[in-house]
Amino acid sequence: MARLVMKFGGTSVANIERIRNVAAHVRREVEAGYQVAVVVSAMSGKTNELVGWVQESSKIYDPREYDAVVASGEQVTSGLLALVLQEMGIPARSWQGWQVPVLTSDAHGSARIESIDPARLNASFANGEVAVIAGFQGMHAQTGRLTTLGRGGSDTSAVAVAAAIGAERCDIYTDVDGVYTTDPRVVPKARKLDKVSFEEMLEMASLGSKVLQVRSVEIAMLHKVRTFVRSSFDDPADPRPGTLICEEEEIVEQQVVTGIAFSKDEAQITLRRVADKPGVAAAIFGPLADQNINVDMIIQVVSGQTVSGQTGNGEAMTTDMTFTVQAADYERAMALLTKLKPEIAYQAIEGATDVVKISAIGVGMRSHAGVAARAFRALAEKGVNIRAITTSEIKFSVLIDKDYTELAVRTLHSLYGLDKVA
Ligand code: ADP
Ligand code: ASP
Ligand code: MG
Repeated sequence: MARLVMKFGGTSVANIERIRNVAAHVRREVEAGYQVAVVVSAMSGKTNELVGWVQESSKIYDPREYDAVVASGEQVTSGLLALVLQEMGIPARSWQGWQVPVLTSDAHGSARIESIDPARLNASFANGEVAVIAGFQGMHAQTGRLTTLGRGGSDTSAVAVAAAIGAERCDIYTDVDGVYTTDPRVVPKARKLDKVSFEEMLEMASLGSKVLQVRSVEIAMLHKVRTFVRSSFDDPADPRPGTLICEEEEIVEQQVVTGIAFSKDEAQITLRRVADKPGVAAAIFGPLADQNINVDMIIQVVSGQTVSGQTGNGEAMTTDMTFTVQAADYERAMALLTKLKPEIAYQAIEGATDVVKISAIGVGMRSHAGVAARAFRALAEKGVNIRAITTSEIKFSVLIDKDYTELAVRTLHSLYGLDKVA
């Protein structure tokens, strides 16, 4: 029998009525003859509440207990969906991550799935049961402790289960009917995409489009899992297919830019007047890396001044070093660099958290020149100041003031012809 994984996110299981609606989608696929594994998230808002309780309980909390607490949201919804399915006359049982088992690394709070043994699920399918799996959770084999996969991690659970059980498809049901050219809640003119390539989806997800967790796209790409993003709000009797994440070759009509992503989870740090000599970048970025602080955009500008602030007396020139880190790492990075002031030898440190990174993504950029330059011009015309830029093969990003987020996203969305025709 063919197998299917169906994943339902927080808003799709927000209450018992919504869970009944989920069950109706599951029934359709069971009646179509599939062996079905369902992966569920916690009810919407639940994980945030649990995280809040952890933070309230302990300032510097034990990440293993964080996982024990936040994994509970999915335990509830998996049990509830199994109950509702049983009530409909569909044999079903719930599976916690450790029961499957979904084995992970011990990076509590952002663990990586290492393996999923399909044997128990296979036995359950052979019994004619729907397997309702709690997403987001796993277990570290050596310690036997519960782990979670990072926010949005149920997507990853679903795709990994699909790969492990050899599912024909993985359907990610959410509160939008597919992947759009940008977040449809920010840009009403965003257009739904029928297909998007793995590579572009990977970039969009890692640059801030939270419709799929990055790791889920990586696993889908690696194991060639046919993954759709679709709406749980569609009529269960007549749902639309949503967006297929697929190989680039499957996409006939290719745009230069496919989507615009944005991330408010950024912070900017500038070190003023750093001595411009060999080894200075290593002195700054080495210690940050040692503390697991990821640095993203980097720009170095010769300041035109020497360490003592004068020119022309034979002293070496200095440079201003600007870079970005994730907002969550900002305080730690500032503290570390402040401590290292004597070693790095800079004059002043400045930081900003009111910044946003806007990115344009498209495989067409490989073969088209000047794509980013058009954006710089368009943003300048709207009076949007660019603080930093990065580019790579299929994307470019600009760092700007947070206040201009919507204006900039809309400007680029129109510029690259992504607006929906009215
Ligand atoms: P779930 O709880 O189902 O996992 P999420 O909130 O994690 O749902 O993801 C769905 C949300 O992702 C949408 O409501 C939408 O606001 C947001 N989103 C951001 N970028 C995009 C995009 N390019 N296409 C579709 N949705 C997007
Ligand atoms: N409930 C978890 C979260 O909110 C996992 C998920 O929804 O995918 O991050
Ligand atoms: Mg999600």
